[in-house]
Amino acid sequence: MKEIILVKNGELALKGLNRNTFEDVLIKNMKKRIKDLGKFEFTKSQSTIMVDPIDEDIDLDDAVDRLSKVFGIAALSRACVCQKDFEDIQSTTANYLEEQLEDAKTFKVEAKRSDKKFPMKSPEICRELGGFILSRFHHLKVDVHNPDIIITVEVRDKYAFVRGNNIKGAGGMPTGTSGRAGILISGGIDSPVAAYMMAKRGIELCAIHFASPPYTSELAEMKVLELLKKVAKYSGVITTYIVPFTKIQEFIRDLCPEEYFTIIMRRIMMMIAEKMAANQNCSALITGESVGQVASQTMYALACTDCAVNMPVFRPCIGMDKEEIIAISRKIDTFETSIQPYEDCCTVFTPKHPKTRPHIDEVIKAEQKIPELEKWIDDAINGARKIIIKS
Ligand code: ATP
Ligand code: MG
Repeated sequence: MKEIILVKNGELALKGLNRNTFEDVLIKNMKKRIKDLGKFEFTKSQSTIMVDPIDEDIDLDDAVDRLSKVFGIAALSRACVCQKDFEDIQSTTANYLEEQLEDAKTFKVEAKRSDKKFPMKSPEICRELGGFILSRFHHLKVDVHNPDIIITVEVRDKYAFVRGNNIKGAGGMPTGTSGRAGILISGGIDSPVAAYMMAKRGIELCAIHFASPPYTSELAEMKVLELLKKVAKYSGVITTYIVPFTKIQEFIRDLCPEEYFTIIMRRIMMMIAEKMAANQNCSALITGESVGQVASQTMYALACTDCAVNMPVFRPCIGMDKEEIIAISRKIDTFETSIQPYEDCCTVFTPKHPKTRPHIDEVIKAEQKIPELEKWIDDAINGARKIIIKS
């Protein structure tokens, strides 16, 4: 039995004249994601992309699993190829879908006939195949409104194929079709979720992580890389920079009023991230902040952080509560890694009484106590380590 994978575009269909470009990016992303599993042939046809395994021993389960995480795909399914002959369509359906048909209580047949030379019209295929299935699987009933399984038959130019239910795709837009942005990634729960959410909108990610050794450990850094690997299963490759932040944090601790520690640290993080992101052709920054979550994320504190940079700052978790963010982190499998208890530079030198309504003039005055801040910022950027996280 020869199987192929059928992929349905998502929002792409809405893109009018750009549709082809979007589809090409999607196919490129799909190819990259399954390249190491073997040789495949990709064919576009209307809103479907057919992925045809050429090599013999390809692990299709793995291919489907990987493709189910590629943004821009609304739904996908495995299908069995058969001859354009109704007898063959019948027997293929019964054999290929046997297990699913045994498990189902109700079914429906849908047929598409793009080869108009095929002697049976779609309603006839549905009727005849439905009758055949009822005669072979006595426990089944037809339900055209809400069936357990939809059997789809497509008769195309070269061959026909049969498939069962679709699997839901990752949705969103193909990565890269919306440009690039820099994600400020911590080892927490929120920022990997923020990264995933923006990648879902077609944004290619570049990641920036601040490390403050010896206050933060190598294990904390490895945790961040582990999280990025999980995000990269969806977003594709992530160019990552680990930025040395100890010196700047020590300056803040030694020279700035304690109540402003966190807010100044966050502003300087943004300044560094903005410069690095610009060097990477990024047009925006992304953080995992959410209003009110901690003192540095009140509306007033966020306003002080925002005005440290000119780039737009995307905060997709901004209106979500922790439960909602956790639900997404479980879905993308980052939660268990995120809750491992390693320190982050945000949690060293935390003030006892942070200002929740910081005034920007006072923050800037406090920040100016650091001598030659520009130079320290450039030093941090020059000392950054680059790591490529593959999908
Ligand atoms: P959680 O809140 O679950 O600990 P978080 O990732 O949101 O996770 P916060 O301390 O709330 O962590 O930090 C707010 C935001 O600041 C993060 O979402 C992230 O974008 C950024 N951030 C925090 N620490 C770092 C860091 N070490 N490197 C880069 N960005 C960071
Ligand atoms: Mg947070």
